[in-house]
Amino acid sequence: MYFEFKKDEYKSARGTYSRLLNLFCRVCGEKILVYQKDGPGNLRRLYFDRIFSPKKWTNLESKPLNAVQILSCPKCKEDIGTPYIYKKENRKAFQIYQDALIKKIRKLKVG
Ligand SMILES: [Zn+2]
Repeated sequence: MYFEFKKDEYKSARGTYSRLLNLFCRVCGEKILVYQKDGPGNLRRLYFDRIFSPKKWTNLESKPLNAVQILSCPKCKEDIGTPYIYKKENRKAFQIYQDALIKKIRKLKVG
């Protein structure tokens, strides 16, 4: 499956460097999400508008925050993150619990 990177003002603010990540449950190894990470730094939150799959977790940015479930592993039920609004950008995201996810780079692309 091929994903086209999202380009918008958030990405521009972080430079041209993006990575597509496969994110896995730390506890059981289940694949949780495909996610676009813009710019350098650790993964501390998952912006709703950067989640590519699965469908259950996409387009959450259009929902009211209280309609979004806590992100948890579908297999072992471990809690992974809590929905909140990242105030600096007024942008909906999951605040992820420390070390809840293992990330693997899916694809490298510049631009
Ligand atoms: Zn799990």
